[in-house]
Amino acid sequence: MIPTTFEYARATSLGDALQKLKAAGEGGRLIAGGHSLVPLMKLRLSEPQVLIDISRIPGLSGIDEHDGRIIIGAATVHHDVASSAVLQARCPAVAEAAASIGDPQVRNRGTIGGSVAHADPSADMPAVLLALDAEIHIEGPDGGRVVTASDFFLDLFTVDMRADEIIASVQFTPVRSAAYAKLYQRASHYAIVGVAASLDVSGGAIASARIGVTGATSHARRLINVERALAGQPLSTATIESAAQLAGLELDEVNADIHASAEYRRAMVQVFTRRALSAAMARS
Ligand SMILES: Cc1cc2nc3c(=O)[nH]c(=O)nc-3n(C[C@H](O)[C@H](O)[C@H](O)COP(=O)(O)OP(=O)(O)OC[C@H]3O[C@@H](n4cnc5c(N)ncnc54)[C@H](O)[C@@H]3O)c2cc1C
Repeated sequence: MIPTTFEYARATSLGDALQKLKAAGEGGRLIAGGHSLVPLMKLRLSEPQVLIDISRIPGLSGIDEHDGRIIIGAATVHHDVASSAVLQARCPAVAEAAASIGDPQVRNRGTIGGSVAHADPSADMPAVLLALDAEIHIEGPDGGRVVTASDFFLDLFTVDMRADEIIASVQFTPVRSAAYAKLYQRASHYAIVGVAASLDVSGGAIASARIGVTGATSHARRLINVERALAGQPLSTATIESAAQLAGLELDEVNADIHASAEYRRAMVQVFTRRALSAAMARS
């Protein structure tokens, strides 16, 4: 289908984008890569009156490391995340998750900011950001604020962000011993189930662990009971096997659709938790 008529405006700075968003009022909508928004517009599930393009704002894309923190600009495309030498060396889980998204066209247009703002229940990045305890840096008319990934993803396509706000970057401390494993839908590559695991290892033991899961429920979330089962235990295959058996048990409502039943997804949460943890252990 053809979208309803809309105006198009290209923002030249973050301040300009905020101003244009305010001026457009309720009919205004940001567009970055357009790979989630444009399909919705074509189906007329979204009918913005003004599109504000943030994809070419100088400084809104790029990957930097400052004082031991990685900063990824919101308009950074998945391809640049996947091929970043800094991420591949310092935090390979993020690069591998980006490399697993869609196809080359999607990776060359879709952005990390668009992915977290849209919060598709099968998107890859939310799970990884949860496992890394990442921060979402948001700019609004009243200034900036920071929300942790754990507080950001609230429900189906619902995040802690107002319509007049813009994600500027995601930021996290890189973790080498982290990994992402997913069972993907063959046509789109969206996660049927995707699990990101991050281990803090000290003296042969797991000091703490964080696990993010996507695809299984209405929004990406952490597997707290698995994290607790891992904390303080020796880093071993036996520890991982036993903790992974708990994965999925705490999820009350598991997604079911034409790609996978709830029972299958729940079983796959265990399988992919084990795989992500094993890969994270191999990197530690
Ligand atoms: C065929 C296909 C396959 C795909 N496969 C996968 C996959 O395997 N895994 C996966 O995770 N994703 C997949 N995607 C989604 C893809 O990653 C999208 O690019 C991403 O979800 C949205 O990013 P975008 O830049 O295209 O956002 P857009 O479509 O431009 O915007 C999406 C939403 O986010 C808002 N938004 C965008 N940027 C910001 C910002 N900085 N601040 C605030 N709000 C913002 C927009 O207003 C809009 O509401 C696929 C998409 C397609 C079309």
